[in-house]
Amino acid sequence: MEQTALILIAVVLLLVVILVGFLTILIYKMFRENKSFSGQPSATPPGEAPHPDISKSEFHPAILERIKGLEKVKPKRADLFCPNHTEEPGETMCAICDKLYCKSCIKPFKSLHFCKEHLPLIMRHDWDEVITIKTSTHDPEQGVRLYDVKKEIFEHHDLPTYIETHYKINVDQDYIETYLVLYAQKELTERVREKIQDKV
Ligand SMILES: [Zn+2]
Ligand SMILES: [Zn+2]
Repeated sequence: MEQTALILIAVVLLLVVILVGFLTILIYKMFRENKSFSGQPSATPPGEAPHPDISKSEFHPAILERIKGLEKVKPKRADLFCPNHTEEPGETMCAICDKLYCKSCIKPFKSLHFCKEHLPLIMRHDWDEVITIKTSTHDPEQGVRLYDVKKEIFEHHDLPTYIETHYKINVDQDYIETYLVLYAQKELTERVREKIQDKV
């Protein structure tokens, strides 16, 4: 009977020793990972850190992970916010540059909205129709293409244009026709017409 009890105690002791050993290895591993983690920020070039004064090594690894995640989201976030006010959500799109601006940065003019940079451009120039496209809900593709081309000639050829939507009631068949009209500065209409040729 006494022998069985001794064997039992020996087995329990062995188990405890194994458990302690296992835990020690685990803690040691965690400690090493922590060390290599806190060493990382100093390894990155100083120019890359957006907040150079905050020492990231002071943060818990989980928080660091969260900060890294937030930094990845940043470019996307910037697109949603006003280019002039990073805390204000962009709500309305400028009809010339297609960027989203906050309420204080965009003004209505005619049926459209324009940013502070492009409102004077609209007011100081004469604008002429370049092309008119009839769209329908069954075939929206051509209209979508017009918006793509408009964006492209602004970004790549520096030609500002805007698109107005016109509605016409078709009395005979009793439905509303939708037209997209592309406008350009009077003196630039020929250049714009050349650029959009074959594309719309
Ligand atoms: Zn604009
Ligand atoms: Zn703004």
